Parts: sequence; structure tokens; C-alpha cells
Amino acid sequence: MSAKCIDIGFLEEKSSWLLHPRFFPSKIGGKPAWLDLKNIPNPSQFTCKKCSDPLVFLCQVYAPFEESDSCFHRTIFVFICRNGSCCQLNSSDNFLILRCQLPRKNDYYSFEPYEENEQENFPMDKWSKLCNLCGLKGPSHCSKCKKVFYCSRKHQIIDWQKGHKEACSNLQQINEFCSNNFIVTEAGKSILFKEWELIVDEEDEEEAQNVDPNQEMEKLRKLIQEKKAGTMSNVSDSELEQYAGTLPEDKVFNKFTKRVARHPDQVLRYDRGGMPLWITGNTENCINHVPNCQYCDGERQFEFQIMPQLLNYLNVGIEVNSIDWGVLAIYTCKSSCDNGPVYKEEYVIKQDLTK
Ligand SMILES: [Zn+2]
Ligand SMILES: [Zn+2]
Ligand SMILES: [Zn+2]
Ligand SMILES: [Zn+2]
Repeated sequence: MSAKCIDIGFLEEKSSWLLHPRFFPSKIGGKPAWLDLKNIPNPSQFTCKKCSDPLVFLCQVYAPFEESDSCFHRTIFVFICRNGSCCQLNSSDNFLILRCQLPRKNDYYSFEPYEENEQENFPMDKWSKLCNLCGLKGPSHCSKCKKVFYCSRKHQIIDWQKGHKEACSNLQQINEFCSNNFIVTEAGKSILFKEWELIVDEEDEEEAQNVDPNQEMEKLRKLIQEKKAGTMSNVSDSELEQYAGTLPEDKVFNKFTKRVARHPDQVLRYDRGGMPLWITGNTENCINHVPNCQYCDGERQFEFQIMPQLLNYLNVGIEVNSIDWGVLAIYTCKSSCDNGPVYKEEYVIKQDLTK
């Protein structure tokens, strides 16, 4: 009996302009490459439920449904609060998942794919003003130059202190100003995650060459135990020790490391309609009933999961109270309905590795 083939995601460095919305990227970090450019939700929807800070873009996965005309383009977006202290065990309150889809014929993009031309004129601010710092919708602007926009007062202050103070007086002289507000500024780097392309490909059955799965399994266990990949924040040392003692009995964890060891660098597993690869058998705290879609009342299904290895690429730190997760399992409306707002909220389960 062979396991069903699924897709897994890896990270690659890529020039920012190649991750522009017109190329329909899957990506990690930087600014969101919005799909629908006009109906971007208001910043109030991106407020952390725990600390009220603006959420920051984590990643997006481009995942069209071939069978549906309205899902010719389809992207799932993941946002997270940057404050590690808002990361609580088996709670996804510091996340926001949004789904957006467009037919092939739409107001924003050409019917045929774009050529990779850096100079192509694609004025995004024709559709929406975006925060100069983080790329969320920017309803307010700098009162001096009136040329850059912000999602929140907090981001306006950071941008002023870390760069716009100098740029502002120059901008005041310019009449024709077209902001390239997709590129991350120096100030933006202080709050956004490093930008990567997410390459999604079939998981092949064979182990990668030159990789010893047993060795990789040990490495992975060590990473997780050292909190470099996985989640042990907010757990006391004695609890950690207790946990380490129980490791061999956690069959789910063993299965997880074994499967992941084939391709240790994977940051995403995409298996629409399948089952998540849970990180632990201790599930009672987090795996609740997944609610139906609030727009069509239809069922949701599992679509993809974000792996703890992604934390290694984000430079979030390994100290207690840094951003952390075991797996993030994302569930979306099975029929990917068109009801409700253009950006539709979906559901995430955060499973942590705890006793
Ligand atoms: Zn928060
Ligand atoms: Zn912002
Ligand atoms: Zn200004
Ligand atoms: Zn629905």
C-alpha cells in the first residue's frame, strides 16, 4: 500500500519583483502579494486578538481549483502577530487566514500570463493605497508629503524614525510620484519577515540522495527539543524533561519525524482534502471540531500545513516567548465558495508539542 502523493514546499531566494502579485506567487515574508487589489480588508481586521498590534504577513500559497472558473486564481494568506508572547499553547488567536479567488478574466490582470519583465508598469496604487511599511491597506497618509500611506499610527511612527523622515522632504518636491509600494523598505525589514519564494512540488517517495533518514530524524528531534523548530515556549524546564522522557512513546511524533526526515527542509505540506501530519498524539487540547464555512455554511476541509522548520528561516529567535508553533493546519471551505467578502476568513489549528 503506497501513501497518497502530496506536495511539499521549500524556500528559495528570489528577487522581490518576481514575487509581485502579477506573477501569482507562493511566498514567505515581505509584503503580501494581494490577489484582488481593490477589495483589501481594512486594517481593523488585522488586529491581534491578544495585544491589538497590527498582524504581519507570514506567507501565501497560490492554489487554484482547476474545476472552478471562479477559482482560476486562488490564494490563501496567513498573517501572524509578531509578539511572541501572543503565541499561546494550542491557540491560534494570534493568526488570521484569508482566502481570495478570481476568475481568469478579471479587472486586474491580463488573460495571458505576464512575461518576466522588471520594467513592466503595473501601478498598484491605482487600486489601493498600501502601508509603506507592511503592505496592508493604508487609509491614512503622511501629512507632510501626502505621498506615502499607513495602516496604523504605530507603523507610521516606525517608518518615520527609520527612513521616511529623510525621504519625506524630497518627496514633497516631486509632483508625479508613483510609489513602488511592493518593495520592502529598510524600515519595513525591522517588522516584516525575510522574503522567500515558496516552491511547491510533489513529495517523491524516495529519500533524497545523500540523506541518511536516521541521521535526519535525530537532527530534527534535536532541533525540536532545542526549540529551534517546534514549540516549547511557555513550558518550564521540568515539563520539558518530562516530555523528553515520553518521546519514544509518542507514536505520532515518531511518524512525523520519519516522514519529514525524507525531506528535512520542507516548510509546507499541501494535501487538499487529506489529513494533516500531526506532530504529536497529545491532541485533546487543540483538535476541536472544525467549524463550517461562515459564508456558505458548507464543510471545511484540510488544505495545507505549515511546518515548524519554517521558524528556522524567519529569524524569530529561540528564546522563550518567541514566535513558535508545532504545526499550523489550515482548513478552507470545501467548495471554495464565492459568498461573503472578497477576502474570506478561513480556519487554522495550531498544534504544539507539549505533554
Ligand atoms: Zn499580539
Ligand atoms: Zn502597516
Ligand atoms: Zn512624508
Ligand atoms: Zn464557503
